[in-house]
Amino acid sequence: MSYFHKDTCRVCKGNDLTLILSLGEHPPVDNFTDAERIKDEKRYPLDVYFCNTCSLVQLLDVVAEDELFHGNYAYFSSASKPLVDHFRSYAEDLKKEQLVAGDLIVDIGSNDGILLQNFVEGYRVLGIEPSANVAEEARKKGVETIDGFFSVEMAKKIVETHGKAKVISANNVFAHIDDIDEIVRAVNELLTDDGVFVTESHYLLDLIEHTEFDTVYHEHLCYYSVKPLMHLFERFDMEVFDVRRVNVHGGSIRVYARKKTRMPVHARVEELLLTEEKAGLHSLKRFSDFQKEAETVKEKLVSLVRGIRGEGKTVTAYGAPAKGNTLLNFCGFTADDIKYVTDTTPYKIGLLTPGSHIPVVSPEILKTETPDYILLLAWNYRDFILEKERELRSRGAKFIIPIPKVEIV
Ligand SMILES: [Zn+2]
Repeated sequence: MSYFHKDTCRVCKGNDLTLILSLGEHPPVDNFTDAERIKDEKRYPLDVYFCNTCSLVQLLDVVAEDELFHGNYAYFSSASKPLVDHFRSYAEDLKKEQLVAGDLIVDIGSNDGILLQNFVEGYRVLGIEPSANVAEEARKKGVETIDGFFSVEMAKKIVETHGKAKVISANNVFAHIDDIDEIVRAVNELLTDDGVFVTESHYLLDLIEHTEFDTVYHEHLCYYSVKPLMHLFERFDMEVFDVRRVNVHGGSIRVYARKKTRMPVHARVEELLLTEEKAGLHSLKRFSDFQKEAETVKEKLVSLVRGIRGEGKTVTAYGAPAKGNTLLNFCGFTADDIKYVTDTTPYKIGLLTPGSHIPVVSPEILKTETPDYILLLAWNYRDFILEKERELRSRGAKFIIPIPKVEIV
């Protein structure tokens, strides 16, 4: 089965779900294609639902794993300098607050060891990463890594071979897993009684406040806020005891959970719950304009790009991240609008973006060509990229920033 539609909420299992945003039918965002394979391209609904019971915002259309990645997929987190810096500071927090020397820390979806490399000295580390070639990169840094998907069965094996973990982390993967119950059960199995499960995900409050509708794609199944996460851990006799907003991926939330204790819960949990409540995240009403807000961004962007093209000027795009493809497809852009997309990821270069079929080329081209306008798809690295491309901008290239509001810089 390549695709199925759920009719129950991933967290509370209720079925009182309301459609709040429909972006149309899209191919999976990592399915870069070529002229020969275009005819086989499959599209699936990209619809976002709100659970009226626990307030979880989620996709109910689940595309099977083998439809999402086409074999040669390899994303190395450490290629992004802002991410490397982010995980270094994240590791410092964990060392200061949660760990003592010699403790075991396990990272689910550990990628190329971007977090765990910071613990190689003084701690015991274990990564779990499904992409074999990415796991290999982590091992080169001294990060012991198991190839595979985290499960109760795997957790039991790790307890036998490594003992229990003081910290288990899952960053930008917890929102990508359909069966989150299995993950929480496995965490419970592997965690020491005084251990901490810490997870970072894109935050619904940032998504809503900045109209970050492009962060919706098939792999990204849940759009978390604190309330449904509390509900989730409660079901497994665990509790959220701290939360932090972190400035990564357009605004994320770091949630700390533990097995239930009598210890105090940090005041930040209640404060952020209240902020969410005030922002309307726990009621359907707040989401009633979400579709219109996304359509407004689309209309502005389309009329801007087509206006520029009408004057005979060139528009290209910068970065081909997952969210970039949601944006390109929702706007209906094609190679007539956007001449090419530059991206540093080797496997994407030479292919066409999924759905919009725009050629992906190496950023080398920008050394000799100066597009009139460049649509910044990786808008979450705005400051970093504008600074990095100072020379290109001094040659006259202007950047179009699509999110949170359409502007030219
Ligand atoms: Zn629910």
